[in-house]
Amino acid sequence: MKDCIFCRIAAGEIPATVVFKDDEVVAFRDLSPQAPVHLLLVPRRHIASLDEAHAADASLLGRLLLAAKDLAAREGIAGGYRLVNNCGPSAGQSVFHVHLHLLGGRPMGWPPG
Ligand code: 5GP
Ligand code: ZN
Repeated sequence: MKDCIFCRIAAGEIPATVVFKDDEVVAFRDLSPQAPVHLLLVPRRHIASLDEAHAADASLLGRLLLAAKDLAAREGIAGGYRLVNNCGPSAGQSVFHVHLHLLGGRPMGWPPG
């Protein structure tokens, strides 16, 4: 999707601090970090939101989760981090390319706002 910011970051067309990439997944630092560690993990393939994912995407979504776990360890926050997926505007989704937020490095409150 040429007008999707995360597709363009994944393709290397827009600069970002990329911390991980493979054939299916790209992870980069959030432009507006909400914690000492705040990464975004996205599939290279455009899926607008989790609501648009299907059974055929199970392996891709699993790779996102496992990449998050590996990055948490690499960032020094294993055992103390939060994964967030905002699905839909009322839940706070602002970029309509499915992504996980990996947040850590500070105490996290519950429930989230
Ligand atoms: P959402 O609100 O959709 O769950 O999360 C979108 C996230 O993308 C926000 O945390 C926002 O700071 C981040 N973001 C938006 N535009 C850019 C960008 O161009 N580069 C990076 N690195 N992060 C972005
Ligand atoms: Zn996209």
